[in-house]
Amino acid sequence: MWQWQHVRLFTPWSFLIDPAGKRLLEAEGNWTEPEAERVPCAGELIERFLDPLSNHSLIAPQIRLNHTVVSVSREGHDRMKDGRRNEAPFLIVAETPDGPQRFRARAVIDASGTWTSPNPIGAGGVRADGEREAQSSIQYGMPDVLGRDRERYAGKRVLVVGSGHSATGNVLSLIELAKHVPETSIAWGIRRVSAEKLWGGGNADEIAERGQLGTRAKAAVDDGRVTLLTGLSIVAVKRCPSGLEIVDVNGESRIVVDEIIVASGARPDLAMLRELRLQFDPATEASKTLGPLIDPNHHHCGSVPPHGAVELRQPERGFYLAGMKSYGRAPTFLLMTGYEQVRSIVAELAGDHEAARNVELVLPTTGVCSTQFANEETATAST
Ligand SMILES: Cc1cc2nc3c(=O)[nH]c(=O)nc-3n(C[C@H](O)[C@H](O)[C@H](O)COP(=O)(O)OP(=O)(O)OC[C@H]3O[C@@H](n4cnc5c(N)ncnc54)[C@H](O)[C@@H]3O)c2cc1C
Repeated sequence: MWQWQHVRLFTPWSFLIDPAGKRLLEAEGNWTEPEAERVPCAGELIERFLDPLSNHSLIAPQIRLNHTVVSVSREGHDRMKDGRRNEAPFLIVAETPDGPQRFRARAVIDASGTWTSPNPIGAGGVRADGEREAQSSIQYGMPDVLGRDRERYAGKRVLVVGSGHSATGNVLSLIELAKHVPETSIAWGIRRVSAEKLWGGGNADEIAERGQLGTRAKAAVDDGRVTLLTGLSIVAVKRCPSGLEIVDVNGESRIVVDEIIVASGARPDLAMLRELRLQFDPATEASKTLGPLIDPNHHHCGSVPPHGAVELRQPERGFYLAGMKSYGRAPTFLLMTGYEQVRSIVAELAGDHEAARNVELVLPTTGVCSTQFANEETATAST
């Protein structure tokens, strides 16, 4: 979250604080709960909730910083081997400042997110030709356009690719930059052929902050501050004397730019779980049972049914995916969902099966999350 600390969230504090975390912090007596209706930036969420929580006397001793997990397996059992698999502890191998270290555990909750494995710019989920070679001019996610990355984008021709909230946020930041550096030119490429669903729920969105994103972006497209390229399914990024040429699926050169920001979602990195027996939903790469419940072809954030240990259970007993990673490629995850997932999983591991099954989740309803996929028509090769 530090990497996108500059991003203003779209849910207010009342949807950002984990109830169990709140109880712990309140019991320590020196924490002030932020104002429920206010919408903070990600950096503020870290400073006012996650940092204090990680410093809590019960939590701090359990955290191992600078440990990157490289594999999770069953000790002595590769994926193929049955043996006494369910009785073997999990073996977690991590890269640490002191070299590789091995840990053993009865259970594992993998909540490592999807932020570090963004989807490529290319159509159909594959890397565009030349995408790798053009890396120095491509950023994925949400760069700090108005802060740390300002010099990179000021006065440049920038293409934003994607049609979710992150893409919209990038476009709005560039619009702000262009107010100060008018030479900055902004193009916005979306795969769908119609912009109709791009603007989100507007006033109908229960989360006002999120509704306004689309409304502001539409105004900028309407008055020409942003050039919208619809039906943009990219197959190649070519470096040419005048910049980066963007070639679409029909072989047509659509635009030449200096910089590209790709915000077209992310996918789970499953490499470190290769030796485990896991099942995923084939469409979303979410946990198998959860996938159909959250598939963005059919659901938006507010319609996600409450779910917990039962839905997140894997054939590998004692292993759970939680948080953003449990949703696979589905972009509709909200923090409150993750807090409830983890509460249920921990209750299950602690033997309180009734509490594990008693899942409750109230999320803000909206039509906007569905804009990502529902009824989407995209450009495909005409040949
Ligand atoms: C721009 C943006 C805005 C969002 N706004 C909201 C919002 O307003 N409200 C809302 O409810 N949700 C929002 N979300 C969705 C979601 O709540 C966040 O993405 C949230 O950060 C997901 O939490 P997570 O813990 O699952 O994953 P992450 O926050 O991505 O955390 C994963 C952690 O695991 C660590 N990690 C990764 N790999 C390893 C490894 N191999 N070994 C050790 N550690 C590892 C990472 O360093 C990271 O610290 C937003 C998401 C984005 C991207």
